Formats: sequence, structure tokens, C-alpha cells
Amino acid sequence: MYGSRTAGVQTERAMAKIAMKFGGTSVGDLDRIRHVAGLVAKEVSRGHQVAVVVSAMAGETNKLVGWTREISPLHDAREYDVVVAAGEQITAGLLAVALGAIGVSARSWLGWQIPIRTSAMHGSARIEGIDAALLNERLGQGQVAVIAGFQGIAPDHRISTLGRGGSDTSAVAVAAAIEADRCDIYTDVDGVYTTDPRIVPKARRLEKVAFEEMLEMASLGAKVLQTRSVEIAMLYRVPVRVLSTFDPDAGGTLLCDEEDIVEKKPVTGIAYSRDEAKISLMKIPDRPGIAAAIFGPLADAGVNVDMIVQNVSEDGRRTDLTFTCTRSELARALDALEKAGPAIGYREITSDANVAKVSIIGIGMRAHPGVAQTMFRTLSEKGINIKVISTSEIKVSVLISEEYVELAVRALHSAYELDAA
Ligand code: ASP
Ligand code: MG
Repeated sequence: MYGSRTAGVQTERAMAKIAMKFGGTSVGDLDRIRHVAGLVAKEVSRGHQVAVVVSAMAGETNKLVGWTREISPLHDAREYDVVVAAGEQITAGLLAVALGAIGVSARSWLGWQIPIRTSAMHGSARIEGIDAALLNERLGQGQVAVIAGFQGIAPDHRISTLGRGGSDTSAVAVAAAIEADRCDIYTDVDGVYTTDPRIVPKARRLEKVAFEEMLEMASLGAKVLQTRSVEIAMLYRVPVRVLSTFDPDAGGTLLCDEEDIVEKKPVTGIAYSRDEAKISLMKIPDRPGIAAAIFGPLADAGVNVDMIVQNVSEDGRRTDLTFTCTRSELARALDALEKAGPAIGYREITSDANVAKVSIIGIGMRAHPGVAQTMFRTLSEKGINIKVISTSEIKVSVLISEEYVELAVRALHSAYELDAA
């Protein structure tokens, strides 16, 4: 479906195939679109074939989402997609015009014209396949393809969108489909940082990040790349670089295989997410079938449960269970649990939306014991209480009160020696 490739980052071929992606701030006004056209023209003048994927102009998608919700909160998801996909159509056309104006042969492509086929899940569809034949034909003729990101065509032949931030995924999937030598994601920062530089000014840019680490970082709250784009990059071995549109020579960050990273610190990065809510079910029966009675109805209600803890019961009969979901799902989760109340048999439900998740991530964790302990000690020294913990091979996440997020991130950043000198 996407084509295949061998692993590893190739040195640039004299004539390469390149996918470039520009985010919302990079195409935020006409001057910026002209600037982007200049960056594309530069690659063309090096003799490369170029496919460009664009986002909507900054703020545009929010506006379109807002309009749709305002007319009807219970809108049809297929019409939502028609409206919100429009932002990318405008930038794709404008960039093609800007390229033409400086003498670069280019044309715009909407998702359905390629086509980029997606699943039926309107509003958060997954790319299922890209037919690269037409694109390749035009690229081969030296024409730049300017592709509207974030959109595709669903099995019902209607426009679909890939979920917020989805043009990253369009770009990596297009890169895989045309077997591009690399996929450059241009954004408003010059790479992936050890943590959010707005919270920790001493955060450092990472030269390289392993695909697995980037996957955790993205899904645990780092907003540079949509999680699905990293999955596709990892699966199809697409060498992805994150670069600044405004300072393209600043270095950037390369996503690569774990083996390509020589120095493996125990912790590579710290992510956080405020979009968390916690629900506790008190005094549930301690017997087989209860977890299923809780999580079945939640799954049916479309609630994505994240962290889970169940206490050891004191008397062997009743226990407490706590889990987390996103804030936007909290009301739905409570509703589902209240309806399932008789089948579960809890005494009380409590919920808390003022929580946040802080995570440490690093492939080096596998080889370094005691990494989690440093996290727990650091938080306790700051008097921060941990409400829930979850771990995987390369990450540890804790749930804490939202008011302590910045303090926790800063303390952990220095505890793991990530601060820039
Ligand atoms: N414009 C869409 C959004 O804001 C897609 C993207 O920019 O990646 O979510
Ligand atoms: Mg984005």
C-alpha cells in the first residue's frame, strides 16, 4: 500500500524525492506562503522531486470547528469534515499559485484527487492507502505536488479528516507512498526539545530521537507531531526531520532507529498533558467480572481509558478502583458508569478534572535501573503527591494535581540532567 524501504537514513542522493510539510503558522499569511514557496523552489533547484503537504492557515481550523459546533453541537460528522477540510484546500491552492508566480511548475491536490483513502471514521479517520501513481507521474515530469493535508476520502465517497494535527500524518503517509528519501516537517520550532521550552527555558533541542521515544512523547502530550504520523514513520522507515520554517538551517531533529543513537541517557524527554481527568469508584465488589462490568460500558461509550489502579482490598470483599480519561470524555464516562451502576455495585463515584500527567521517556531506561526512583524522590522533595503511576519499558507516567505540573516538569528536567549548560 505505501511501498517499502530498507531501514536507515540515506545520505542525500543527487536527485532525490522529498516530502515537505508546512504547519499552520508556517503558512499563516500571504508573506509566509511566499516564504514557503521560496523554500520549495530551493529544493527544486537542487534537482529534487518535491511533494509538499500543507496545513490550514493558523487559527483557520479552530474557526471552522467553532462555526460547525455553533450551528449545531450535534452536527453530522460527515458535514463537519466538509467544513473543516476547507482550510487546507485554500492553502494548497495559494501555495501552488505562489510557486507559479516564481516560475516553479506546481499544482494543488485535494485528498480525493490523489486519492488518499481513509477509514469511515469521520472526524478522526485513519489513512488506509494512498495511490501514488498519478502523483509519481507528475513528480516525474518535474511538477511540484502541493497536497492538502488532514484530508482524504472515506469508503462512502465523502471527504474525511484525520483528527486535529492530522496533516503531519498526511505528510509522512505521502512520503511513504511515493517512497521519498526523506520527509521534512517544517514548523515554528527548530526541532523536538527535551521538554516544552515555554516551561523550561533550559530545554535542549534533540539532534536525534528514536521512533519509539517520539511515539511515546507524542502520545503523552508533546505537541510537535501527531502520534499517528510517528507510527507510520516507524512502520515504513521514513526518515523524518523536524525543522523550523523561519530558520531552516538551525539543525532540527531527526527521527531514527534506536541503533542510530549512540549516547543513550536514561531519560531523553519529559512530556506532560493537562487534558486528563480521574474517576474513582469506591467500594466495588472484589470478585471476578467487576473490571469487565466497568470497562465494557466505558468502551461502548467510546471512552479511552488510560491509567488504571485497583487497590488491594482490606477485607477481601470490597475495594476501590481509579482510572483516567481525557477531560472531554469525563461527562460521558460518568454517565456510562451511572447507567451501569447496578451491574457494578459501587458505593460512590468521585471525579477530579484538576489533574495532569507528567511522563519521563527514554530508550536508555531499559539499561539503567533506578530511573523511576529518581522521579519519585524528586517529586517527593517538592512535596508533590503522586495519585496514579503507570509504566512501560521506556516511560514512567505519574498523575498529579494540575497546579504542580510546571514545578514537576522543571524539577525532573534538572534531576535527569537535561538542562542546557
Ligand atoms: N489544520 C488541521 C488542524 O489544525 C490539521 C493540521 O494542521 O495538522 O488540526
Ligand atoms: Mg501540528
